[in-house]
Amino acid sequence: MPKTKTAEAKFEFKAEIKQLLDILVHSLYTHKEIFLRELISNASDAMDKLKFESTKGTEIADNDLPLEINIKADKDKKILTVSDAGIGMTKDEIVNNIGTIAKSGTSEFLKIMAESKEDASNIIGRFGIGFYSVFMVAKKVVIKTKSFRKDEPAMQWESDGLGSYTITPLEEKIKRGTTIEVHLKDDIDEFLEKYRLESIVKKHSSFISFPIKVEGEQVNTQAAIWREPKSNIKPEQYTEFYKFLTYDQEEPLTVIHRSVDAPIQFTSLLFIPKRSMDMFGYNREDYGLDLYVRKVLIQHQNKDLLPEYLSFVKGVVDSEDLPLNISRETLQENIIFTKISTSVTSQVLSHLTTMAEKEEDKYKQFWKEHGKVFKLGYMDYANQEKFSKLLRFNSSESKDENDMISLDQYIERMKKSQKEIYYVFGSSREAVALDPHLEIFKSKGLEVLYLYDPMDEFVMEALRKYKDYDIKSVEQADVKKLNKMKSVDDDTKEDIEELSKEDKKHFSSLLKKMKDILGDKVKEVKESKRLSGSPIVLVTPEDGISSTMQKIMNITGKTQTVPTKIMEVNKNHKLIRNLLKIFKANDNDPYIKTAVEQLYESSLLLEGFLTDPHKLVDRVNSLLEDSSEWYTSARNIN
Ligand code: ADP
Ligand code: MG
Repeated sequence: MPKTKTAEAKFEFKAEIKQLLDILVHSLYTHKEIFLRELISNASDAMDKLKFESTKGTEIADNDLPLEINIKADKDKKILTVSDAGIGMTKDEIVNNIGTIAKSGTSEFLKIMAESKEDASNIIGRFGIGFYSVFMVAKKVVIKTKSFRKDEPAMQWESDGLGSYTITPLEEKIKRGTTIEVHLKDDIDEFLEKYRLESIVKKHSSFISFPIKVEGEQVNTQAAIWREPKSNIKPEQYTEFYKFLTYDQEEPLTVIHRSVDAPIQFTSLLFIPKRSMDMFGYNREDYGLDLYVRKVLIQHQNKDLLPEYLSFVKGVVDSEDLPLNISRETLQENIIFTKISTSVTSQVLSHLTTMAEKEEDKYKQFWKEHGKVFKLGYMDYANQEKFSKLLRFNSSESKDENDMISLDQYIERMKKSQKEIYYVFGSSREAVALDPHLEIFKSKGLEVLYLYDPMDEFVMEALRKYKDYDIKSVEQADVKKLNKMKSVDDDTKEDIEELSKEDKKHFSSLLKKMKDILGDKVKEVKESKRLSGSPIVLVTPEDGISSTMQKIMNITGKTQTVPTKIMEVNKNHKLIRNLLKIFKANDNDPYIKTAVEQLYESSLLLEGFLTDPHKLVDRVNSLLEDSSEWYTSARNIN
């Protein structure tokens, strides 16, 4: 029948989609067969949506059609067709879903393609643009579709994937659903062979819950695997299902399969991937569990079944007890749903706890890959104890920075008289080693947790306590109490002579002088009880905001504020002793001012608060100049 020109409408693809098509049409990807997986997946989605509509009581066209996917090959015309009895599409839906509106997935996909060597065909389905993969094998694609809405006319979409497409009202009579005609490229014949089609379906689509028929014969036989008893399922089947669900090439790190009967019936089949799937931080929406009610898919990637800090978990949850006609919008308010989600969360936490106890290496890998996301769990107050138990840290006692311990291990080996858990934050293990705050902990032989991720500091500040122990930063520790503890290296201090009574007075005056020099930059200058190797340290006054909070405020606010701290001075340090001598000879010697300012700014630099290094560098240069003079004359170098 000739087309009526007036009814045909021609559309241009959006620029981004043209770019995508250009990649796909000219692709040399090795896994072209995955186009079939994508078409089947869309057909299955369309029938899931139909089931969902019918459970809501919506009136549906051709209600008696069997929900199945039919794949047929016409060898003479070289056309492969994939048809379904799903919801179909109206004209507007075709325009919106396939074609003009560039979905965010397109640009993310293109970015990944530009940056990585990943085979596009492996991941394209993850970005909500799977349909276009058909152009890897097709020179032309025709979609014939009729919506489940009773009075909507059937439509035909057609494109060669080169830049434009047409939409025409379809004059032949068809039933509800969608048929995709794939006009194969001239050199591609393999997808016309029945055995080849069957093997592709088995490989990629065996977990589709609707019958898939190739030339009339059903190929897939898998029931909903999560509904099977655990003892019936082989590890390979879990892996297969996992790969089907996630597009991951590797097997999962771990599988959690539970069936609960009371008080609420539900089944969960969950996986933790070996690697974080948060690829380069793109596609942030790609998480959540698939929610089924009595095997009907209610929502793909539901984001409320698990808290965000467990978003690395993949899988499905299926319940008998949720009402089938529940709307996605009211799910969160449903008490049964809330109970299921609470229960799923504890399943994951318990599983991780067992893994940490019994499979240490696996847990290590989990922590390495997913720890960054997991740490967000400090906000889950209901599970705080379980959560805290699962945290891992590097510490002063660790062999190297990959060696991690739990809070329980810390407690186990802590000193008898110790009542607190200590931590310090720094950019690296090397940087932390130089932190003067740690000196007293070293001399008392106290273990300190090393934090390198700013997130860790949030976590510690939020927890504040673990079991009976307060968690404190080394800065907040009570130095008086620490000093009462026995030192492990008492003999190292012996060669420092005590200050005479008179010198103690001079030292007090020197401290006053230092305060005068620094003015409002410091709250107080006083003798230190915690230092052994460093001349000075800056500490937070008791009523002051902690360094962490200050940094957070500096990050979130627009201004850079330098916190007002207390400067503690180590009277037994060589440099301070020399300053004292200079001070005694002339309490106005300009060297004192230079040295004090330098000490102060060096400390700020160490703590990450020095915003303008110019003065510091200038001063260091002039001190170096002076010392080089002395050095050359002392050594008679000319
Ligand atoms: P995704 O499936 O991730 O949304 P696709 O590129 O595979 O991305 O498909 C785009 C959209 O086209 C689908 O979301 C759906 O709205 C529509 N679509 C594709 N195939 C069908 C089909 N067989 N029946 C109904 N709608 C379909
Ligand atoms: Mg799809």
